[in-house]
Amino acid sequence: MPSETPANAIEVSNLVKTYPGTKRTQPKEALKGIDLTVPRGSIFGLLGPNGAGKSTFINILAGLVIKTAGNVRIWGFDQDANPRHARASIGVVPQELNIDPFFTPLEAMDVQAGLYAVPKAERRSMEILSRVGLAEHANAYARSLSGGMRRRLLVAKAMVHQPPVLVLDEPTAGVDVELRRMLWDYVRELHAAGTTVILTTHYLEEAEAMCDRIAILNHGQVVACEPTPDLLARIDKKTLVLRLASPLDAPPDLGAGVNARLRAPDLLALTFSRGADSAPALVANAQKAGLQITDITTEEPKLEEVFLSLTQ
Ligand code: ADP
Ligand code: MG
Repeated sequence: MPSETPANAIEVSNLVKTYPGTKRTQPKEALKGIDLTVPRGSIFGLLGPNGAGKSTFINILAGLVIKTAGNVRIWGFDQDANPRHARASIGVVPQELNIDPFFTPLEAMDVQAGLYAVPKAERRSMEILSRVGLAEHANAYARSLSGGMRRRLLVAKAMVHQPPVLVLDEPTAGVDVELRRMLWDYVRELHAAGTTVILTTHYLEEAEAMCDRIAILNHGQVVACEPTPDLLARIDKKTLVLRLASPLDAPPDLGAGVNARLRAPDLLALTFSRGADSAPALVANAQKAGLQITDITTEEPKLEEVFLSLTQ
């Protein structure tokens, strides 16, 4: 039996998923033997282009897709040896907005609590619904709910058995800004209360802001898995933006290894490799070339650049 608090919320080794082919399609190896560890207490981001295998991975954790090979431990419970404990330790918000139109949110919560054998006295359906902003709609027909409300209902359902691990597959896809903020507030609150969170998202800025660790999947393989700052540091480039006293027609040549672009006639962006050049040396060079500088800013790499360089 695992302890109450395992070191890792999720441990996956050599996970393979091959979807069988049909008469018209080839078999598809969606996961090619991946290893991933999600430390307890993290907010873990799973990124990757469409078709990378993110949903397959998450649906295997949820028990919705049967793996082809490999080992999955959830909260210390082996999914094969201890499927019930493994399942009880995780709540999953699927990518699809599947909602039974004939249940109200409150009824849907009750059905879900029943599925997870949560005793009546321990059910907190109303409390969870109000936390995701659905208190007023608790008794409305689910088919009258907007897309955003359905998404919130799915989050509420995933939390019905108060699992220590919450997984959200593209939770903010097609969700408006206000709702997104509300969702993240709730996720942060759950995280602060000790829940380990795993999410996939297309919004890199979101992952950068929310996640302390990020894994990047590409073609069914893990191409990176690191603390977010380390991943950002992988991009060796830095950009120096110089505001000039007088406008230029063309960017100056400041030597090999320095990419000079004009963002405006008086705004010169110099991208250089941190290893090779230093910002003060570049500024000195620019002045030597006759440029009169009135202001200087630097730009750090964005996750998007790391992402592109790893998945291209
Ligand atoms: P992501 O969520 O990263 O977009 P998916 O896990 O949904 O990726 O898909 C990974 C690959 O597996 C894709 O090539 C997809 O077409 C394929 N795939 C997903 N589900 C099925 C399925 N049920 N049957 C056959 N192929 C599938
Ligand atoms: Mg997906």
